[in-house]
Amino acid sequence: MTRRTKGQKDYMERLRDPRWQRVRLRVLERAEWKCEGCGTGEVNLQIHHGWYERGLMPWEYPDEALYCLCDDCHERAESLRADAYKTLGRIPPWFHTHATVLLHDLHLLLAAGATQQDLDDLRVQRTG
Ligand SMILES: [Zn+2]
Repeated sequence: MTRRTKGQKDYMERLRDPRWQRVRLRVLERAEWKCEGCGTGEVNLQIHHGWYERGLMPWEYPDEALYCLCDDCHERAESLRADAYKTLGRIPPWFHTHATVLLHDLHLLLAAGATQQDLDDLRVQRTG
């Protein structure tokens, strides 16, 4: 038997809440029951929280915070978010405003339709 902390048990209990089930269904429908990461359909799909805020229930997040992902993409997303968080932690707090501006610029590029290839090209240009 896997031991779980009280916090994990509470979280799993919240995921059974009808309010979460409703939000979950809305995100699955938005994604047309396919992984928004790799496009696969015929698999177990999970809803990924792009971020967490203290005190918010799982169903209280805006749709832009929620992603429909397959197990593999969900695991990768969790790992990459943890890496991003650690990277931010290596930047002194007095530079976090600058980090936020850079991330906001990235968000704008993505919102304007930038592809993975566009971003890879930018990275090559910057690292030469
Ligand atoms: Zn996937």
